[in-house]
Amino acid sequence: MSYVQRLLRTDPLTTEKTADLDHYLPAIARDLDRVLGRRMLMAASTSFLGYGLQAWLLRDVVPGPILLAWVLTLAAIESLNGTMAWRLQRRTIRTPGLAPLKLAVRCNLLLLGSAWGTVLLLPHVAADPVTMLLHGMGLALAMVLGIYNLSTDRWSYAALSGGLVLPGVLGWLCLDSIPREIGVCGLTLFLLCQFYAATTGRLVRSILLSNRISKDVARQLADSNHRLEQLSHQLKLAASIDPLTACLNRRAMMRELEREAARVRRNATPFCVVFLDLDHFKAVNDQHGHAAGDAVLKVAAEVFKGQLRATDMAGRWGGEEFVLMLAATSLSAAVAKAEGIRVALADTPIPVEGGLLRITTSVGVAAFRPGQTLEALIAQADARLYDAKAAGRNCVRS
Ligand code: GH3
Ligand code: MG
Ligand code: MG
Repeated sequence: MSYVQRLLRTDPLTTEKTADLDHYLPAIARDLDRVLGRRMLMAASTSFLGYGLQAWLLRDVVPGPILLAWVLTLAAIESLNGTMAWRLQRRTIRTPGLAPLKLAVRCNLLLLGSAWGTVLLLPHVAADPVTMLLHGMGLALAMVLGIYNLSTDRWSYAALSGGLVLPGVLGWLCLDSIPREIGVCGLTLFLLCQFYAATTGRLVRSILLSNRISKDVARQLADSNHRLEQLSHQLKLAASIDPLTACLNRRAMMRELEREAARVRRNATPFCVVFLDLDHFKAVNDQHGHAAGDAVLKVAAEVFKGQLRATDMAGRWGGEEFVLMLAATSLSAAVAKAEGIRVALADTPIPVEGGLLRITTSVGVAAFRPGQTLEALIAQADARLYDAKAAGRNCVRS
């Protein structure tokens, strides 16, 4: 883990200090255990093939019952290892239990390696160069595969590879029947493999680290993307909604009217616009204050919106002027609706500081005809609104 710690603190290319990435350490430790567990499990399950091959090579050398006992012993150790690897990979062990588990795994690997290496000491194997070579190659293969499987835990690999060459080296030191070259080869192979295992281990750690960092960066990017989308949605909303009355503002209302006009030009179902201007609103401000004026505007907007269907739209045109878009509505139906809205507002008492207020509205209604421009439609509705004002206010003109 010290290598990862060093890697985290300094940039390997520039050797400058990098950002403090210490929080990755526990995650990488978990990743390493998972990788180790997965590879050991794979190794344990494929090792049985190796035992079969070894038993076949030794079939004429070792008596049957001893060979069977030998293979069963190896299989038992390997099954134990496999079970531990399974738990390591699934992390069904709590952190305090990990250290003893890893120690047990290393002891098992040492035992397993020694059991394999011991074959070299058998007199018949040692006496026959071809058999010796075959077993030596098997042993070298086991060491090389071990680099892949155990390099993330250097002590586990040292235990396995040490176990594999130990009998050969001991035989070289103690027994005359073992050619000296075998011991030298074993020792050299052991040292070389330790070097490669250390390098491979570093590589795996670096890959795990960069995976973690990329995942983290990707998650952060996705988060900020999501936040940006939310912000942009809020901005869009803020740009089209009048904050006081929560009606569409003039720009958004124009957009909606244009959309509706385009639809009507295609389908020829008419729509109407209704212009409303609160009567003597200035007096409300003058007599009751600006806050009361605001409250009146809010209530008026509520009353207007409450009378509309889902397909209709309400917008604040500016000041105390509102505009409604009544989708798929004939002029006579729109006038009836406008009359309903006028009466509803006149009948609504508005609570303000110091009592209840009543407000009325003048209304101008115009129907959109395909071929007409939106500006002409608006001018027509506006003119009718002024007719209503001129007629004494609190009435509808069309
Ligand atoms: P009329 O019946 O002819 O429409 O008379 P009016 O008093 O309603 O019309 P006028 O245009 O003279 O006054 C409109 C007032 O609305 C003037 C302005 O101060 C007030 N006003 C505009 N926007 C707001 C607002 O957001 N809040 C408040 N409280 N008052 C507003
Ligand atoms: Mg006005
Ligand atoms: Mg007014």
